[in-house]
Amino acid sequence: MRTCNYLPLGRMARAVRGAWRMLLAAGGTRECPACGRRIRRFQPFPKEAADLLARHRFRLPWKSSAWETFNREEYACPFCDATDRERLYALYLRERLAPGLGDGLRLLDIGPSRPMTRFVRRRLRAAYRSADLCNPEADDRVDLEDMRIYRDGEFDVLLCSHVLEHVPDDRRAMTELFRVLRPGSWGIVMTPIPLGVEKTDEDPGVTDVAERLRRFGQEDHIRIYAGADFTERLQKVGFRVTKLGRGHFGPEAFERCGLTPQSALYVVDKPMGAGA
Ligand SMILES: [Zn+2]
Repeated sequence: MRTCNYLPLGRMARAVRGAWRMLLAAGGTRECPACGRRIRRFQPFPKEAADLLARHRFRLPWKSSAWETFNREEYACPFCDATDRERLYALYLRERLAPGLGDGLRLLDIGPSRPMTRFVRRRLRAAYRSADLCNPEADDRVDLEDMRIYRDGEFDVLLCSHVLEHVPDDRRAMTELFRVLRPGSWGIVMTPIPLGVEKTDEDPGVTDVAERLRRFGQEDHIRIYAGADFTERLQKVGFRVTKLGRGHFGPEAFERCGLTPQSALYVVDKPMGAGA
């Protein structure tokens, strides 16, 4: 069972941040695929969060070039808050669920964020449902290791972003993701992936916050996957895994959306005829 860390932002703080965003966002060549706004530049990763990692001596370099999908310099959209990874999801979902293609499909968003919830509800025609163990804004309260409230094959599209690195038994969670997806359908499953790391580092037994920050980079993370191992674990539960990067979307789209060249999207497919 993972811990809950959900801190709602105060109304005043939101108003101040909103005014600041408007100043930062005047004109520009960037475009956020989540909210559709043109802007000058995305906002950098929050300094306070970076300082926290530095204070706890996080063992991996906290810079864009050390991770697959992480743009420290252009992290968040000043209008809708979509991070670079969420802009990558929006780019793909716009392509795959274009009008006429996504109508009525049932999309399950696990570990929802406000930018993605708004994006799917406003810009896609899929039927949206969100699930989370802690977030009170989610439609369903669900433990990823046991999603029995959903039937086998209940969903047509799955979005599971930056959740599996929190879950003690991630193989069981992946099995559940596979089960609730309809055969012949697909999803996006993402987690932080450092470049050049060959072995997954994990230990659900580490509960000390300082040690989690040092070893896993966040107070409620219990692992950091190696990319090949992450793919292999997904394949072992039955998924076909396709990594899509700049070659698929094009360098111009990556530049426009503020994505680093090494950013990569993990798309999983549940083969036709696959059981739960
Ligand atoms: Zn945006």
